Amino acid sequence: MRFDTNAVHAGQDPDPQTGAVNVPVYLTSTFVQSAPGVNRGFDYARTNHPTRAALERSLAALEGGVGALAFSSGLGALTNLALHLPRDARILAGEDLYGGSYRLFEHLRDRGGPRTEYVDLSRPETLAERLRERPSAMVYLESPTNPLLGLADIAEVARLSREAGALTVVDNTFATPCFQQPLALGADVVLHSTTKYLGGHSDVLGGALVFREKSLYERMRWLQNAVGAVPGPLDCYLVLRGIRTLGLRMRAHAANAQAVAEALEGHPRVARVLFPGLPSHPQFALAQRQMSGPGGMVSLELKGGEPEARAFLSRLRIFLLAESLGGVESLVESPALMTHQSIPAAERRRRGIADGLLRLSVGVEDREDLVADVRQALEG
Ligand SMILES: *Cc1c(COP(=O)(O)O)cnc(C)c1O
Repeated sequence: MRFDTNAVHAGQDPDPQTGAVNVPVYLTSTFVQSAPGVNRGFDYARTNHPTRAALERSLAALEGGVGALAFSSGLGALTNLALHLPRDARILAGEDLYGGSYRLFEHLRDRGGPRTEYVDLSRPETLAERLRERPSAMVYLESPTNPLLGLADIAEVARLSREAGALTVVDNTFATPCFQQPLALGADVVLHSTTKYLGGHSDVLGGALVFREKSLYERMRWLQNAVGAVPGPLDCYLVLRGIRTLGLRMRAHAANAQAVAEALEGHPRVARVLFPGLPSHPQFALAQRQMSGPGGMVSLELKGGEPEARAFLSRLRIFLLAESLGGVESLVESPALMTHQSIPAAERRRRGIADGLLRLSVGVEDREDLVADVRQALEG
């Protein structure tokens, strides 16, 4: 089945007992056994749970994986993945990264756990060099990245990593499986913060891992239970409910983001606009090849730096000032002051995150209203 059909149906068969068309929210932590160890496939909710199992089947179908695991948040998913690696493992991570992922990698390093080094993955030749130096267990990347919306050639990164014996893990939170399917491009694992577009309504936290290969899935499934950072039944239901309209929403987010990016670009007060759907994006050709849509995230820098950025924020009427992204409502945030403040200031600037950078999560409101809102906030 194609994407939109899977989004509505995969993993979400009507309830065999009652015919309910929606997956029931089983509010139970344990399941009755007819004799010790004899059950109907479920014994304790941390290990396996029917509402979670439905979500996991849906996620596996959307990303084209052999299996998926749901977690209580995106960082919960990343923590599980990191715990799978040996203590002396080396991680090569893309340089532009969600601040919380960076914070976790730094913490692990400080505790003598896996050591993360950062690479500019927009240039695969740099990765090839770093992979030759010493063995790596995992190459970890976002594409598009948060917050600079840079891309990595996933097929090329996966090919280089495989040659060097490293796993390729792609955080697909920004593109979603609607616009980009990393497993089909050769990646081994896809990570999601389902808090964002998959949930889609800013009402739930969740995370997921989706696997290309059975044995890693089985080992991670063991760890999912051993660690216990699993989502509750209602959270699973909310993500499943969001997934049903993912295609509709992503096409609306992308069309609105395109209009907003075009309105911002070339405005005398705007220094630069970062959006994979603009021909001015340095990797526009790669975006066209690798993604079936540009996504709904737009970053911009104003000429007046941080003071102008603060004034722009205060003038916006529809875009709400808040962390997070991917909900139906438009949000705006300052990476340096909010989502990425866990990266030290000097390191942030070196990576290109200026203090005046703003990140827009363009929602599904009326396109003309959104364009008018950014225009009036620029003129003010
Ligand atoms: C939000 C986010 C995360 C972390 O997910 P949580 O659900 O907040 O733990 C990871 N990666 C990206 C790209 C994100 O935007």
